[in-house]
Amino acid sequence: MKDDDIPKTEEGWRNKLTPEQYQILRKKGTEAPFTGEYVHTKDKGMYQCAACGNQLFSSDTKFDSGTGWPSFDQAIPGSVELRPDESDGMNRTEVVCAKCGSHLGHVFNDLPAGRQVGSKTGKRYCINSACLLLKK
Ligand SMILES: [Zn+2]
Repeated sequence: MKDDDIPKTEEGWRNKLTPEQYQILRKKGTEAPFTGEYVHTKDKGMYQCAACGNQLFSSDTKFDSGTGWPSFDQAIPGSVELRPDESDGMNRTEVVCAKCGSHLGHVFNDLPAGRQVGSKTGKRYCINSACLLLKK
């Protein structure tokens, strides 16, 4: 995918994405837990940004967090940007695609009890399925 495939306007994004993807990627929405396409996926491959094709996560870093969202213990270096997010009265860290600036999810250091199983780094990138495209 070429860089000029990234829409320059909100109208362009609306035309490119499904309504659900637009709400999550461009409006920082969150899909309902356990509803996403990739929650339980164990297939090998590379997870790309659904908006621009940027390679974000290897399937090797995916683990079952039990939270209902695809979870990874690390991102491909340079593929994402982290931003402080104090919306909804919470102190979280937003994960954004470094290439197109779309919202992907949040990253957590403080894993809930019993949910750190499988994370090799102690981090949990909690990412919406709607923001991902698995290339096998
Ligand atoms: Zn992107």
